Amino acid sequence: MHTLQDRHPEHKHSDALGSSFTTYRGRFAPSPSGPLHFGSLVAALASYLDAKANQGQWLVRMEDIDTPRVVPGAADAILTTLDAYGLHWDGEVVYQSQRHALYQDILAPLIEMRHVYACTCTRKQIKARGGLYDNHCRDASHQFEGNALRLKQNYPVLEFQDDLQGQVHIPKGIASEDYIVKRRDGLFAYQLVVVVDDHQQGITHVVRGADLLEPTARQLSLFKQLNYTAPHFMHVPLAVATAGFKLSKQNHAPAIDNSKPLPALAAALKFLGFNLSHVHFDNVDTLLKWAISHYHISLLPNNKEIQVTQQDTGHYDFTPL
Ligand SMILES: [Zn+2]
Repeated sequence: MHTLQDRHPEHKHSDALGSSFTTYRGRFAPSPSGPLHFGSLVAALASYLDAKANQGQWLVRMEDIDTPRVVPGAADAILTTLDAYGLHWDGEVVYQSQRHALYQDILAPLIEMRHVYACTCTRKQIKARGGLYDNHCRDASHQFEGNALRLKQNYPVLEFQDDLQGQVHIPKGIASEDYIVKRRDGLFAYQLVVVVDDHQQGITHVVRGADLLEPTARQLSLFKQLNYTAPHFMHVPLAVATAGFKLSKQNHAPAIDNSKPLPALAAALKFLGFNLSHVHFDNVDTLLKWAISHYHISLLPNNKEIQVTQQDTGHYDFTPL
């Protein structure tokens, strides 16, 4: 079995008694904008298996900071589904919507040191200037009240090492954009809160879908800006309906079935490269136990996208893109 020490020797520590132990803290961080579908199951399962195969903890964090997109009841429905699929988390679930004071505490010194400025540009204006933000308002001294707040990009990340995708290159225009840390509507932006949360929760390994490769570069730059140690990142292929379109409510990806979890769980394991043809299982717990003991990073496909088609029979087909 693949162990954490093989991959990240720096995470091996010795305790006071001289025996060695490893610290691995992974997490699954869904947005409660709807029920879990097959694509989110794949992401949850990948991070769960990587954590458990490395004797790690696996935390769940509700990314409910974008309150207009939160669907009432969706967070509880997601937790019920994770339980039904045997994906039991460690510790208390963290809700971003309850952590505004923490985010403000992190933002305040950045504002004080003038690393943050107000921007009045509309999406339409930015689009007309080429689509990427050109740091237009950096020296304009707009008032903060009622405007989006952007962080000066002092630590652009043009490339990083992904545990599965290898060396990832980020276009210069994206890497050097001053990105929003607090929105015009007063909500803290995803890029800020995810970094604060991962640091505050002691996350050592982030395993998630490859649609987040570019945001990872921004998050790595914020880890540097805040002088935090960044976690390891591993991006698994994204489950898509067609090239470039991830499974979502918009393209009618159905919610996964809580009452019959085995077919979707087995399909998610196949998506992640497991061969189940000679495996006998009659419940999710025995299947997950088998998967943990047979997990190895070399099983995982390193495409960025895999097309998923679900037949009426409940059978899934996969096409790497
Ligand atoms: Zn602006």
